[in-house]
Amino acid sequence: MEVRVRYAPSPTGLQHIGGVRTALFNYFFARANGGKFILRVEDTDRERYSDESLQDLYDTLSWLGITWDEGPVVGGPFGPYVQSERFALYRQYAEQLVRDGKAYYCYCTPERLEALRVKQQAEKSEQQGYDRHCRHLTEEMRFEYEKAGIKPVIRLKVPTEGKTTFHDVLMGDITRRNRDVSPDPVLLKSDGFPTYHLANVIDDHMMGITHIMRAQEWIPSGPLHILLYEAFGWEPPLYCHLPMVMGKDGQKLSKRHGSTSVRDFRSKGYLPEALMNYVSLVGWSYDGQREFFSKDDLEHLFCLEKINKAPGVFDYKKLDWFNGQYIRQKSDEELAQLLLPYLEDAGFLPSELSASQQEKLMRLTSVVKERLKVLGDVVELSRFLFEEPMYEDVNLFAAKGVQLSDALEALEKAYAILRDGLDRKLEHAAIEQSLTELATQLNLKVNGVFMPIRVALTGSTVSLPLFDSINLLGQDATCARIENALALLKREVR
Ligand code: GLU
Ligand code: ZN
Repeated sequence: MEVRVRYAPSPTGLQHIGGVRTALFNYFFARANGGKFILRVEDTDRERYSDESLQDLYDTLSWLGITWDEGPVVGGPFGPYVQSERFALYRQYAEQLVRDGKAYYCYCTPERLEALRVKQQAEKSEQQGYDRHCRHLTEEMRFEYEKAGIKPVIRLKVPTEGKTTFHDVLMGDITRRNRDVSPDPVLLKSDGFPTYHLANVIDDHMMGITHIMRAQEWIPSGPLHILLYEAFGWEPPLYCHLPMVMGKDGQKLSKRHGSTSVRDFRSKGYLPEALMNYVSLVGWSYDGQREFFSKDDLEHLFCLEKINKAPGVFDYKKLDWFNGQYIRQKSDEELAQLLLPYLEDAGFLPSELSASQQEKLMRLTSVVKERLKVLGDVVELSRFLFEEPMYEDVNLFAAKGVQLSDALEALEKAYAILRDGLDRKLEHAAIEQSLTELATQLNLKVNGVFMPIRVALTGSTVSLPLFDSINLLGQDATCARIENALALLKREVR
């Protein structure tokens, strides 16, 4: 049996971690089994649909390097299947069910349904939802309604007795009493739009889907879908509902925990390889040990048996760690290309670099490479290189517990040592040694000497290692900045 799986998102929001994990599991499962991966856009809910979400779906999959294997050919390489282009099919099958006595036309007006709802609520009636009023309409009544021009919906005849069971590869058998399944749900709306259930089941059947891997939140739809397959006389696919993705606090992953949309992760500077690797480990493992998997590895090694039954925890720190690892695997040239857009956005560099800018970029890249968690970190780490420091708060020059006047003295003396050392092209270690000795003489901790230099050069108390900053700035700018800072401090203190 050829494996055929699909990712069937509704373009009603940005692609998020949970959705992308579903896409990846399906994709890897298809690849690992020599099967087919299908993309199906479930855009029947026109109120919640947005072009932006659809574009985001394509951008996300292409960023991750996920391609699909089939689709209707509309003048060129095939697009994905799109439900809104298939309405005629859904209508045809819904009408087929009516002819077979498995579904029926319902002419109830929205007003009647609303009145029904209010009445049920007021009476706290056990029966909730549609009262199956039109299930037994006579031909005459139907004719009257038609004559009055009322456009009907089509509803499924859900059995009122018995139970429905479906088997889930992970969860085992899931059984529901039929009377607890939604009472005769709408399959086709009066405007000809299918509901999710109808379109989803017809498409999975028509596309020969063998395994349905989707989020666990779809389990409640399971029994209804089985009833639909039965009504059509079709064999249902195998189900494998994926455990939830949760935050560290055990709650469903949401914006409260941090970014959840792939677009956000991407713009912060997570690499697709890192995100893909990490997301694949949320709810799946190979042998419980190995952590690094390339896309190619996963295309060979992925299997359903290793999917966890327990919810997967999404750990932002762990993702940062993976991202750092993948960043450090890049060559300096590759990394520089990835950093450039961030430096451009910050207004630090133009997109067309002069030779000296190119050289600066390469030097910067080799220094920041070890320190980046995400590509976007490069902006704050390198701001000092492209902008003059502001020195907004003079107190920053004084390390904790140090008087401003003592910081001034330390900076004056340190500057003399530093300039002399740079002039004589001494080893950095030697200059550092002298600065450390200066701290002892002045009865300060080393930070008492290094902090004012750091702040003078960068305007900030956190920066790249001091001598890396000096190297990047060059001797002239280094000296000029320290002199400026000294002048400022003198005005403050004296
Ligand atoms: N369109 C549904 C969604 O947005 C698909 C659910 C399914 O995979 O059956 O998740
Ligand atoms: Zn009705």
